[in-house]
Amino acid sequence: MFKLIAFAVALLTLTCAVTGLRNVTAESPNSSYDLVITNARVIDGTGNPWFRADVGIRNGRIAGIGKIGAAEAKTRIDAANRILAPGFIDVHTHVESLFSQPAAENFIRMGVTTLVTGNCGTSTTDVAEFLGRVKAKPISVNVATLIGHGSVRRRVMKSDDRAPTADELKEMETIVDQAMTDGAVGLSTGLIYVPGTFAKTDEIVSLAKIAARHGGLYATHMRNEGAQVEDAIRESIQIGERAGLPVEISHFKISSKKLWGQSSATLGLVREARARGLLVTVDQYAYTASSTSLDSRLPTWVLAGGFDEAKKRLADKATRERVVKDMKDALRRSGFKDYSYAMVAYHEADKSFNGKSIAEITKQVSGKKDVKNQIEQILAMYEAGGAGMIYHSMGEDDVQRIMREPFTMIASDSGVRRIDESVPHPRGYGNNARVLGRYVRELKLISLEDAIRKMTSLPAQTFGLRDRGLVREGFAADLVIFDENTISDQATFVAPHQFPTGIDHVIVNGGVVFAGGSMTGLRPGAGLRGPAASAGLPPRKTSGVDAKAA
Ligand SMILES: [Zn+2]
Repeated sequence: MFKLIAFAVALLTLTCAVTGLRNVTAESPNSSYDLVITNARVIDGTGNPWFRADVGIRNGRIAGIGKIGAAEAKTRIDAANRILAPGFIDVHTHVESLFSQPAAENFIRMGVTTLVTGNCGTSTTDVAEFLGRVKAKPISVNVATLIGHGSVRRRVMKSDDRAPTADELKEMETIVDQAMTDGAVGLSTGLIYVPGTFAKTDEIVSLAKIAARHGGLYATHMRNEGAQVEDAIRESIQIGERAGLPVEISHFKISSKKLWGQSSATLGLVREARARGLLVTVDQYAYTASSTSLDSRLPTWVLAGGFDEAKKRLADKATRERVVKDMKDALRRSGFKDYSYAMVAYHEADKSFNGKSIAEITKQVSGKKDVKNQIEQILAMYEAGGAGMIYHSMGEDDVQRIMREPFTMIASDSGVRRIDESVPHPRGYGNNARVLGRYVRELKLISLEDAIRKMTSLPAQTFGLRDRGLVREGFAADLVIFDENTISDQATFVAPHQFPTGIDHVIVNGGVVFAGGSMTGLRPGAGLRGPAASAGLPPRKTSGVDAKAA
């Protein structure tokens, strides 16, 4: 009898030694799983080459990896000839409206299982309430949030173009402190937007210090992505260095035509900072067009104080002339001859403009083709309530150079989409699939394993989501199953409301949310809390700076 037990122990030890895994033998008392995915080629998110295994899921967690077999499962998915990867983590989204579209179908169907929102300085200022909403309003996808500097500043100082008083700064610090305590993953800024643009570096450092104290990071839509992009990168790095926290540069790009090719230099600045021991990372979407509001083309001084103030200023002839001149100068500096690179995604006041360029609209409205009339058209559309825009402003070489960099993650910059509403940027439907189809399979720019790493473990590591982003026992069962030979994005700039092909299953916290070409209706998503509020997980080192480097 003793011999038999010893033999069993030896066998079990051998099994562990061979696979490095537990709970995979039929003798184990914990051998039943809620779901087993069999025969998959597992790409685990580390960047390592794929291996073949069954993956067992219990209580929303990955509970076994190895040879499991279908008999031990309540439910089974056969993933033969398919890739099984961690669900994608999209760290740059704008999904404040998620709870009104809880299926988040456009994200789920490109394999995204976790969203980080609150980017570019805009977020809820009540993080506890936002994350707590999951209880009453279940969602398909996991969500984490940053605390947005612009939203905090607006709450305290409206849209004023001035420095905060000591009391105002203190009030902003208190809001950030509360948000971090409640589970924000860091502080975000949008330094081209009102009111973020009115903040000087010192103000941001003060607030970033609060985020640092809680173990958060600093995510930034920088002050400039055009002619002054290098200065803007230096400012971002400086904020991380002075406040002592990691820096994430959002939607890293070269958007001034005159600077196409300069990503070698801008990536060099990030590499140099990392070599000094500063933790700096970037994210990007896989397109040569960006998307943001129309007013990003207007000089920020005219926007101070908000929409009504701006309209008053534009009504003054001399001021309007100054605006037109500033916009002409900015256009010239960017290297574009006119606004044919600027397409309308959504203009409430006249939806017939959707999908057309400013140049086309100007011609249609006034019969004119010159830049001055195009600027007048932009101002008229701003006065009529503004517009969501798509700007075809980047070069493919820069997109590829940025994607090859090991510290670049893949993120969409998208919101939750309503099918067939407006003509939005296709990234919200296709981003991840486009990387896997076009840049991995067709162009062979990066390996499949590396692309997955950029969508999973790298974002998880960067944003402190410590039990996600890997196919590993004990980790949350956020998974995607796809066919590497057919995965591809279908959304285009002309017809963006198209889901990708090649994705078979998407699983969130062990719940299958997408299968057989349709959403299942399950809502297993969770509100994910940042380092200060995620009890039960080991603390991570909070500083973005090496002791030596500081
Ligand atoms: Zn942004």
